Amino acid sequence: MRVGRVDDADAGNEVVGGGLIGPVATGTGMGNWNMRVKILQGDITTRSVDAIVNAANSTLLGGGGVDGAIHRAAGPRLLAACQELRATDLPYGLAPGAAVSTPGFDLAARWIIHTVGPNHHAGQTNKALLVSCFSESLRIADSLGAASVAFPAIGGGVYGWTGHQVAEAARTALDGFMASHPGTSVELVEFVLFHPELEADFNASLEELR
Ligand code: ADP
Repeated sequence: MRVGRVDDADAGNEVVGGGLIGPVATGTGMGNWNMRVKILQGDITTRSVDAIVNAANSTLLGGGGVDGAIHRAAGPRLLAACQELRATDLPYGLAPGAAVSTPGFDLAARWIIHTVGPNHHAGQTNKALLVSCFSESLRIADSLGAASVAFPAIGGGVYGWTGHQVAEAARTALDGFMASHPGTSVELVEFVLFHPELEADFNASLEELR
């Protein structure tokens, strides 16, 4: 599979919720010939993609960080949808490494894919769970037929994973997904980084796909 090279035009500076698009990762490997990977700086809630991924907590009932920003931007129907999930399919909440989707409501994105990072600070140090956040989110995006998906740095905030660890988990998940889903609907994967200092970690890890 090959992560398709992005044209020079795509690699130019573009305003993203007040930030700038950083270098674009490209690569070769096995899988989807058309998949592109971009690393951006900015606010994920502003992205006009088919699906954005939320670094939620197990309650699914909102929290701080990117979760809070997504709930504010998506509006109160998101909390109602999450409460409905808790009342039906997920009475015990969402386990670390798992993912579930809701509509995007007031967002430009059509869907929100909620996943729960392992809380490194609380002793959940199994990297496979962090990889699973990215893998399961990609799997759900594919099942929804999404062409474009934006990820935050899952686990890289209050849950305490380093930028390097998050970026490596994302790379591992992308490798696996591209190998296992050669005909996926997903053509574009964005990593939208709120903090510019994470950009170097993501550039380094995703460039290894080349
Ligand atoms: P976790 O609990 O999984 O660590 P956090 O929300 O605390 O999740 O942080 C995950 C990452 O999301 C952090 O790098 C944080 O800076 C970033 N973040 C916070 N708000 C936004 C936003 N609006 N858009 C994109 N990333 C964000």
